[in-house]
Amino acid sequence: MPSWLPFETHPLYAGALLAVAVFGGITFPLLFVVTAPYGRHLRAGWGPTLPARLGWVLMELPSPVGFAAVFLNAPGTRTPAGWLLFALFELHYLYRTFVFPFRMRGEGKRKPALTVVMAFLFNCANGPANAFAIVTFGAHLQGLADARLLAGTGLFLLGWALNQHADHVLLTLRAPGESGYKIPQRGLHRWVASPNYFGEILEWGGFALAAATAPALLFLLFTVANLAPRARANLRWYRQRFAAYPPERRALGPFLW
Ligand code: NDP
Repeated sequence: MPSWLPFETHPLYAGALLAVAVFGGITFPLLFVVTAPYGRHLRAGWGPTLPARLGWVLMELPSPVGFAAVFLNAPGTRTPAGWLLFALFELHYLYRTFVFPFRMRGEGKRKPALTVVMAFLFNCANGPANAFAIVTFGAHLQGLADARLLAGTGLFLLGWALNQHADHVLLTLRAPGESGYKIPQRGLHRWVASPNYFGEILEWGGFALAAATAPALLFLLFTVANLAPRARANLRWYRQRFAAYPPERRALGPFLW
């Protein structure tokens, strides 16, 4: 066993790191072949489904709860820098778990249980592993006056704002009761098919820079592996669905794909 994977002293943490790495390693090539079957790409043949809102809450729940439980209880040090990272992670995941699902419009939308179970398992590993690394291996995370921590925090907040705005544009395209799709025309959507994913990747890039821990870096790699192929699938979907879709729009970000 490699010495950087502390199976003997922290088997659960090491197992969680391995799980996230395996998820990411499988996800990236797989999503180029099979588009994740939810939202606009939902289709028959993926087993039982459940209401989309319930699915989002259930699958995201282990992130804010697992991160907080480990951060607050694991033996180790909770420094000001650690608390800042705690606040960033919870800012993102409390919103994603308890607010975002209830802003979605499109009555009767469903989600395959399989996608919920996969995301649930991933989040059970990812949130706790990130918190554990900060508390246990965070000797480099001390005061707030640290250039890398502040730069990472700035990048995270920029990504969060872009993700929020891009999602807001999408979530307000439908009038209450509507469930169809339209061409978004505001904000970064004028240039990019999935600017919400671009913002999300910046967020976790900022978090990885600020935290400088193995699970934060793995989470960034997983997010790219998960969202980059999906952004391509979204662009392809828009082009096929709308003859008037602006041909110059890219998939993920300015100059990206
Ligand atoms: P989408 O962009 O596919 O959809 C976001 C919401 O907007 C959904 O409610 C969707 O409805 C609606 N919507 C999207 N496009 C249109 C349109 N053209 N017209 C009308 N309504 C539209 O995002 P995801 O559902 O994939 O992701 C949601 C959030 O979760 C994003 O912020 C994303 O970054 C994040 N996420 C993060 C991941 C990670 O690995 N860190 C993984 C997946 C998501 P409908 O559901 O009916 O399609």
